[in-house]
Amino acid sequence: MDKVLKSLDVINVEIDNRLSIKPEYKIDTFVSGNKYRKLKYNILEAKNQNKSTLLTFGGAFSNHIAAVAAAGKANGFKTIGIIRGEEVSAKIANNPTLSFSQSCGMQFKFVSRSDYRNKTKTSFIENLKNEFGEFYLIPEGGTNQLAVKGCEEILTDDDINFDYICCPVGTGGTISGLINASKSHQKILGFPALKGDFLSDDIRKFAKHDNWELIRDYHFGGYAKINTQLISFINTFKKTYQIPLDPIYTGKMMFGVFDLIDKGYFNENSKILTIHTGGLQGIPGMNKRLEKKNMPLID
Ligand SMILES: *Cc1c(COP(=O)(O)O)cnc(C)c1O
Repeated sequence: MDKVLKSLDVINVEIDNRLSIKPEYKIDTFVSGNKYRKLKYNILEAKNQNKSTLLTFGGAFSNHIAAVAAAGKANGFKTIGIIRGEEVSAKIANNPTLSFSQSCGMQFKFVSRSDYRNKTKTSFIENLKNEFGEFYLIPEGGTNQLAVKGCEEILTDDDINFDYICCPVGTGGTISGLINASKSHQKILGFPALKGDFLSDDIRKFAKHDNWELIRDYHFGGYAKINTQLISFINTFKKTYQIPLDPIYTGKMMFGVFDLIDKGYFNENSKILTIHTGGLQGIPGMNKRLEKKNMPLID
């Protein structure tokens, strides 16, 4: 991610006269899509603070962990990943995300699921400082004020003609940036990748406008849950448009957008921009899990 300081040119792909895709996944294989956007100003801030270590949190297949590992390496930082699940420590070799992150020099600490829940508590962070020394802390999923600032750069002046901007939602940082960069005639639709209704409050913390809505019908049972219908949609989509989708975020969002189009949710003349936030590094890890369950794989 030596591109960290450069401005990027991500050119929208037109699917038909209503629907376009902003292919943010093309930014980088590992520091991809919104994770690039969310890290940009955090990396600059860590440099300004003269920190030499980045520390962050994530699950075993996390796009954010892979992105921090790669961006940290490219920018000369030591990186530490606090990983959810002690049992994961035995599975690094078989886990594409963690093997990759380790190959970038990331050091792991595996913690139990109950300890992991304390990750925002001062005492937990203090213990990490005692163990690892000074670091620049990036929260789970990478969302903070500087991440939102980076995500505000996803939309450009060329996107002004779109009526709807659609994106997947995890922690809400990306959609907050899109909302802040949007114009008042635009509506931002977020498609949560997980169950629960806590997200709106998180978004309100960062978002400056209220031209947004969460569409909660397309999480497919919860975070990282998938079924054969979703796999088949992702594979057909790739065959038809030569654009790969990831199973955790962009696949579910795009499934939702297509379903809403079918159901007549959008009016005939409206123009829709979907944000492809990346996440493709997660496909090999998901395929390993699908293989074990004897399910069809993602192409
Ligand atoms: C992390 C991630 C998201 C979620 O972004 P938030 O800012 O946490 O809402 C969406 N898409 C992809 C591909 C991601 O990796």
